Amino acid sequence: MAEFALIQRYFSGLSAPGQDVLLGVGDDCALLQPPAGQQLAMTMDTLIASRHFFPDIDPVSLGHKSLAVNLSDLASMGAKPAWALLSLSLPKIDHGWLQGFVRGFQTLAERFGVRLVGGDTCQGELSITMQLTGFVEPGRKMLRSSARPGDLVYVTGTLGDAALALQLLRAGKDPGELRKHLEMPQPRIVEGRMLVEAGVRTCIDLSDGLVADLGHICERSGCAARVHAQRLPLSSRVRSHVQESGDLALVVAGGDDYELCFTLPASTQSLLETLPFESTCIGEIIPGKGVELLQEDGNKLSLPQAWEHFVS
Ligand code: ADP
Ligand code: MG
Repeated sequence: MAEFALIQRYFSGLSAPGQDVLLGVGDDCALLQPPAGQQLAMTMDTLIASRHFFPDIDPVSLGHKSLAVNLSDLASMGAKPAWALLSLSLPKIDHGWLQGFVRGFQTLAERFGVRLVGGDTCQGELSITMQLTGFVEPGRKMLRSSARPGDLVYVTGTLGDAALALQLLRAGKDPGELRKHLEMPQPRIVEGRMLVEAGVRTCIDLSDGLVADLGHICERSGCAARVHAQRLPLSSRVRSHVQESGDLALVVAGGDDYELCFTLPASTQSLLETLPFESTCIGEIIPGKGVELLQEDGNKLSLPQAWEHFVS
């Protein structure tokens, strides 16, 4: 099957022309019309086989995850998702695989109003690059740079589930229920929109682990954060793992959580009570540099390093 036919068959049906999509897949470029007065939020992520996912991963999960990791970036800014570009490098044409991949992508795309408006397809090692654009109203966005001493630090959901799933898979064990945290993360788009509407202005999504990502907020905001280990929200599986192994690294440096970590002045804490989702206060922003993790007795825990590319 030629490249053109493949694109026609799998990728041309994922965006109907509409108000903001004048021309989608099929010409040399897509033609897009942003809504008047809105700013564009753009992000891109690459997933490479064996580095970011097991090559035999279910293609439905991979289609989902490729979009989910980008949606998570939009969620952290409080942006409304709009358009996707997909660059796909495939070792061969496998129709069952492509159908699964498109299904995983499409199911999540429809849930959050994402239209696939273009991309590129080539032969090579399995790798997926997705670019996503969303809309934000001027002045209504969440950044990494707006945290201030006295702010409280919150996270959505639970931490460490994906990292524990990865650890189990690497050890040849079945992660059971935890697998979906690793392979089908749920981007916190709805939560991000509600937080920004409620007036929260500082947020990041947790892709590289709490310490690293909260560290980005601290660095960009010129302050430090104190996290209380006993407040970290854990699922029962992760809690028993931590109790058995005494190892918190998985929770604070594991990565792939795709939860939101946000801060807000303590005086505005009550605005969270009106929101229909749970978040947990795990600490506070303080003057200084870096992230410190405190045990119940007040002693500092030494921090494990997060995953970084290009670090030998
Ligand atoms: P060109 O050679 O001019 O770059 P292509 O043949 O690569 O064009 O692509 C033709 C059309 O198909 C374009 O509209 C492009 O955006 C779209 N397209 C190609 N690959 C993908 C893909 N993986 N997902 C979505 N759209 C794609
Ligand atoms: Mg062209």
